[in-house]
Amino acid sequence: MCLCNDLTELWDDEAKKYIEGHLRSIEVKSDGWEVVYDCPNTGFRWIEDYPRSEEQGGGPMRLRRLNKVVK
Ligand SMILES: [Zn+2]
Repeated sequence: MCLCNDLTELWDDEAKKYIEGHLRSIEVKSDGWEVVYDCPNTGFRWIEDYPRSEEQGGGPMRLRRLNKVVK
């Protein structure tokens, strides 16, 4: 289900579920520590990163919404 118009940020398990169920990965950056996704319904882009990567285990995954890309 597409919630890209309402959501702006997700963390960890919620982020992973949303990615698996909905988003398409389009670009991997920074040795896999950043991944760009896109929503097939709305055209919103999302970026996965690890802002607290200095923590043990790499810290939580964050998924943030970026700008909409008009096709
Ligand atoms: Zn969506």
